[in-house]
Amino acid sequence: MAKRLQSPSSINTYLQCPRKYYFLYHLKMPTSPSIHLVRGSVAHLALEHLYQLLPEVISENHRENLKVIIVELLKKFWKEHQEEFNELNMNEQEIQSYFEETKGMLINYINQFSDKVDAQMSRGLDFPEAFRKLTPEVEKEYRSDDYSVRGFIDVIENHDGIVRLMDYKTSKRAHITDAYKLQLAIYALLYELEHGNKPDEVGIYFLKEGEQVLPVNEELVKHAQFYIEQIHASTESDHIDDYPMKTSPLCKWSSGQCDFYEYCFRGKDIPKEPLKRVYKEPKSDSNKSF
Ligand code: SF4
Repeated sequence: MAKRLQSPSSINTYLQCPRKYYFLYHLKMPTSPSIHLVRGSVAHLALEHLYQLLPEVISENHRENLKVIIVELLKKFWKEHQEEFNELNMNEQEIQSYFEETKGMLINYINQFSDKVDAQMSRGLDFPEAFRKLTPEVEKEYRSDDYSVRGFIDVIENHDGIVRLMDYKTSKRAHITDAYKLQLAIYALLYELEHGNKPDEVGIYFLKEGEQVLPVNEELVKHAQFYIEQIHASTESDHIDDYPMKTSPLCKWSSGQCDFYEYCFRGKDIPKEPLKRVYKEPKSDSNKSF
């Protein structure tokens, strides 16, 4: 049987709870909309489009100008996602507080980016040259048929010969969790398979707190290979009993519950066949908040 195409998100879902993986990836059951996913998509879009601007239009005070631009991009994409925000069952004030928080994160990112621009300019480049030099490749899909895995990498930087694969997160804590580490390890593997050499570093732009990186070495790549193989071996079956429930605080917490809680703990009828819908994964590969 052909191996199912996996992603960092599907693999981390399996590790979090095999039953949840079954509901999502076998039965293609829908999940409820989440503020973290919607605002994460909007923040990603704003950052992606930031790098499309023509730096020549900014003549002076690039830091303040970039802040104005990122806030305008945020407003534009926030507006375009209005329908999704309306589905969240949140009042206007709550949504606005997320908007302000996201704005603060993006401005924080611009401050860090501008520090890098200043460092380049202190070496003699003008703003357009520094901006172009620091402009990464964005939102690139990598795929391996041999491993049957694919991933979308938010940012690929190549500055002065140092290659870094970076992901944006709006998480509250700036900490590379096991799930994030595995996601990054899979990116490193996919990059090596495509280019024949390893990136130097992988990491996360925690938009609230700053960046954190891991060096890429053989051990990290093997970490990805191990889990990809494990998950392929564990997801061959189509039978629900082969996907045990893994109860944890992620089943139910003070302000909410897993999308499948009613099926696991309240006896709600589980569909017998996969639903006829295309499961659309969020573009970012994390299975938690962006
Ligand atoms: S409610 Fe708990 S056991 Fe059930 S799918 Fe969700 S995480 Fe898994």
